[in-house]
Amino acid sequence: MSNLLDVINVKRTFPRGGGEELLVLDEVNLSLKDGEIVGILGRSGAGKSTLLRLIAGLARPQGGQLTYMGAPIHGPVPGVAMVFQSAALFPWLTVLENVQLGLEAQGLPSPEIRSRALAAIDLIGLDGYESAYPRELSGGMRQRVGFARALVMHPNILLMDEPFSALDVLTAENLRTDLIELWLGKKLPIKGIMMVTHNIEEAVLMCDRVLLMSSNPGKVGSEVLIDLPHPRERTSPAFEDVVDKIYVEMTARRVERMRQAQGAGNIAMALSHVSPNQISGLIEALAAQPYDGKADLPDIAYEQELEVDELFPVAEAMQLLRLADVEGGDIKLTHMGKRFADSDLNERKEIFSRALTTHVPLAAHIRRVLDERASHAAPKTRFLDELEDHMAEDAAEETLKTIVSWARFSELFSYDDDAALFSLENPT
Ligand code: ADP
Ligand code: MG
Repeated sequence: MSNLLDVINVKRTFPRGGGEELLVLDEVNLSLKDGEIVGILGRSGAGKSTLLRLIAGLARPQGGQLTYMGAPIHGPVPGVAMVFQSAALFPWLTVLENVQLGLEAQGLPSPEIRSRALAAIDLIGLDGYESAYPRELSGGMRQRVGFARALVMHPNILLMDEPFSALDVLTAENLRTDLIELWLGKKLPIKGIMMVTHNIEEAVLMCDRVLLMSSNPGKVGSEVLIDLPHPRERTSPAFEDVVDKIYVEMTARRVERMRQAQGAGNIAMALSHVSPNQISGLIEALAAQPYDGKADLPDIAYEQELEVDELFPVAEAMQLLRLADVEGGDIKLTHMGKRFADSDLNERKEIFSRALTTHVPLAAHIRRVLDERASHAAPKTRFLDELEDHMAEDAAEETLKTIVSWARFSELFSYDDDAALFSLENPT
């Protein structure tokens, strides 16, 4: 029997200015088998939504092949339904009418449409709200309508694009729990689920397998099997072990690429926005008791009231600046990190400035350009254009914004927002 879904060597590019192309997905391979929930875990911008749109047949790849039950996907597939981050419901239609829409398009007899829609509404816990309008529902209930609208189609594959990420913590957890219970109780009229998320714990809670996706271009790196019985306990050691393992895999690969770029003096390293304050905060927490310079990443995420995923970029920035190392799920201050913790503000600025020129090729590059110019000034576009040769426009903007906040803190160079101009106050 063939897989529900196969994605083979898929490539997706988007056109950008000057006849160039942005490579968003490259050599993506994956499959979904009957009875599986597979998670695709990756950061914002990795290409997760792009991948799901290809699977749903809403867009075409520039290379490779996608098949649904062995047959090539050329357009929207009736057996595949999608749930988005937030359900775009028609405000002038009731819950029942919103759920019935997809079936009406198929031209089924009215009584069947109605009974299937009522069953889907009942299943997803919206019994009694059939005649309510979207504006009368909470965000969580509207999202349930989104699920009902997908399930009513009795698809073989349910695709979910960060379906819980727009909901508050409790609402999200309730909906996850209900969905897993329905799935395990074989109450859902579907054969397999593919879920995109950037939330590691969510993936470990729900999935049989998780595919880790790297960015720029998006690729499926490794796969982690999650062989834990349900119901899964977030606080159990086995659960935490899997979260740790995924965390380590995701960080290790990024850091390895970062180190390569550093070694090669490559300025085109995309930086997530992390402020010097966030970096100082984490360094101080790590230096203090009970950690004394070393902590388990999920532990300190919890302590700092950060989601594990929110800690990623901060931990990464600290590694880039060589203020900390991450090894085997632990984050550990380097000698320089410890010195930073023990220093006053002026010394901290100096340490930061030195770390920038030594370890961040882009910062060193901007400083060099400013040093060499008689005016000691250069417009933002000078560097933005350079970065955009290697990354998407939004990534280039974010990278530059990050560098600006680091340079301001360390006084390596300054930046005037209104004039969009880099300059030096103290040229060497
Ligand atoms: P994710 O869902 O993982 O956050 P997306 O698939 O939405 O990522 O986007 C991946 C990359 O593709 C981003 O850099 C985004 O800017 C780019 N992208 C997505 N859709 C388009 C489009 N229609 N045109 C141009 N670029 C796009
Ligand atoms: Mg997305």
